[in-house]
Amino acid sequence: MPNSGYIGRFAPTPSGPLHFGSIIAALGSYLQARQCNGKWLVRIEDVDLPRTVPGADKIILKQLESLGLFWDGEIIYQSQRTSLYVAALESLKSFGLTFPCVCTRKDISDKPYPGTCRDAIENSKTSHSIRLKTNDQEISFTDLLQGRYSQRLESDVGDFVIKRTDGLFAYHLAVVVDDAEQEITEIVRGADLLDSTPRQIHIQTLLGYATPDYLHLPVVTDKAGNKISKQSHAEAIDHTSPSNVLFKALDFLGQSPPDMAFDSDTESLLTWAIDNWTLKNIPKTRKIMLA
Ligand SMILES: [Zn+2]
Repeated sequence: MPNSGYIGRFAPTPSGPLHFGSIIAALGSYLQARQCNGKWLVRIEDVDLPRTVPGADKIILKQLESLGLFWDGEIIYQSQRTSLYVAALESLKSFGLTFPCVCTRKDISDKPYPGTCRDAIENSKTSHSIRLKTNDQEISFTDLLQGRYSQRLESDVGDFVIKRTDGLFAYHLAVVVDDAEQEITEIVRGADLLDSTPRQIHIQTLLGYATPDYLHLPVVTDKAGNKISKQSHAEAIDHTSPSNVLFKALDFLGQSPPDMAFDSDTESLLTWAIDNWTLKNIPKTRKIMLA
């Protein structure tokens, strides 16, 4: 039974079935949690309602079960946690660190956000997003795979949106609140989120939350170097042979699964993988092209 203090998680967006890239994040976070004798939670990140596809959450959970990736505890849905995000936003507001922004996407096509509305007189009548003020102190952390990473938010990113014009909470705010509330100790996810981590650490610091450890796994790209995603017609998972999928994912993560894996069931393959999971064998890169 899990009894270490480790709590990890897998947090898919229910915009479609899991593809090979999301399987990598699921498997990597699962193995890290299980090898640490910790808990592995699953959270459905449906805060971005327009991207949510009805029924996709159920398909994702079935896929995890078919791969033998069984989670601990209850599944959390971000769409049911708005009151927590409202409270976090109110705290940030009370510190004087938020402001309404009426810029359109067209106004601010260049990154970083130039601070146009930062000191404008508050006008909440117009439809607006809410941005969080940044500063230029260096924020750095040491990723367990990618090494040291740092940003100066004000010059690298600018003040960023925490509540969108359409009224929905932004991913950065929701994920920080949920990770803190679920007492996640280590976040294992794709390296496409590496550059958003300093923004999340900024929010954690302001709200007085602990910063978890981070491990950003390489993401799977197509031959053109783009991250494969549900949007880019990612190859569907082969339901008929879950151990084959696990074998390929372990191989991608540099774990050299034994050849017998093709004939074995998911349970014995995962047992092998938990026993043999070795961080230093994972390629230290942010992207790997799918052969
Ligand atoms: Zn603005």
